[in-house]
Amino acid sequence: MKRYLRKPLMLGVYLPAAALTLGAFSYQPLEYSLPLELPEPKVAEVQLEEPHTLAEVSIADFVYTIQPGDTLSTIFERLGVSQKEMYQVLESDVSILALDTLKPGDKLGFWLEEGRLQQLELRFNVAHQVVFSRAAEDTFEYSEVLVEGQWREQVVSGEINGSFYTSAKRAGLNAAEIQRISALLQDKINFRRDLRAGDRFQVVRAEQYIDGEATGNTRLEGLRVFNRSRELTAFMFDGNYYDLNGESLARAFMRYPTKRRFRLSSQFNPYRKHPVTGRVRPHNGTDFATPIGTPVLATGDGVVTRVTKHPYAGLYIVIEHGEKYKTRFLHLSKALVRKGQTVSRGQKIALSGNSGRSTGAHLHYELHINGRPVNAMKAPIPVADAVGKDDRMAFNQLKDRLLEQMNANQG
Ligand SMILES: [Zn+2]
Repeated sequence: MKRYLRKPLMLGVYLPAAALTLGAFSYQPLEYSLPLELPEPKVAEVQLEEPHTLAEVSIADFVYTIQPGDTLSTIFERLGVSQKEMYQVLESDVSILALDTLKPGDKLGFWLEEGRLQQLELRFNVAHQVVFSRAAEDTFEYSEVLVEGQWREQVVSGEINGSFYTSAKRAGLNAAEIQRISALLQDKINFRRDLRAGDRFQVVRAEQYIDGEATGNTRLEGLRVFNRSRELTAFMFDGNYYDLNGESLARAFMRYPTKRRFRLSSQFNPYRKHPVTGRVRPHNGTDFATPIGTPVLATGDGVVTRVTKHPYAGLYIVIEHGEKYKTRFLHLSKALVRKGQTVSRGQKIALSGNSGRSTGAHLHYELHINGRPVNAMKAPIPVADAVGKDDRMAFNQLKDRLLEQMNANQG
């Protein structure tokens, strides 16, 4: 049986330089949008050389752009890919939980072979892709591409007139950034009570670019809030935030996500093998043998960015703690927080459970540093600390540079 690769006629014209430098993954320009019927693509069919491997075949058969209201099921159905295969992908996704983060505008690349899914690429932006590839008859494995790119700084400044939220929004900050600022300074200021009309704020925001294209990712490098006679500051240094004097703004993390210690039923293991296929199926978290209904605690100050149900992970929560740290809690029975909420270390955020595909009641807890899962039981966790002696000079240089930018752009 011949296999064909659908290839656009003018492929080279469309391939962005970023895709080429990434090597393995690139996109064809044909895109389909729901609720349109999938048209017959205007493409030339070229014979595919054997063997069919990821490196050689980098052109998706279909690229689909996510529309508002889409679900993974409806998209798979449109493309004629079976629900069984969707669940096989979801099973692999439990280790990375990338599918739940898809939003309108993101792209899905499908590689099909005689109607069977061989590969699915999630293209969030030029800086971030996740690829699910068929590893065996009924198994997919994932890989993730994160590109650092360049960060371009810009000063955003404004004055308080109404709430901090509306004032910051007017100045050009987005909801997530405003939430991050509130979480960052929550120990220092009550944004609702303490701010007065006429108070000012300045933020040095960096936007990520890859080959001249904005990815939509931003980070807050420094900020200043003039609250009546006092000045609140935050500077990001080595992924953590410090005030003007180099004192940490983050409170220390807790090692365990529960008040009581529970038996560790499964360790973090990035090389865990699938018992049947023998393929690597990473265990990106630590499992605790918690009975259903055990209170689950936030291990650090942060913002809840996801409260979602996943067929395999069950009900789960994701909390972002500044730019560098992220935690995840899986198989919960009940969430006690909602998306967008600011939480403090030790706050009760959920009750543990046995939801999703789980072999028994337990809590699966993950810690990520700079976008990568780490062993939460062993990794260096944030300790509320000042900038170390050896780093003082570098910190002061960075602080002075950011202050200079803010001074030059008084709003
Ligand atoms: Zn687990």
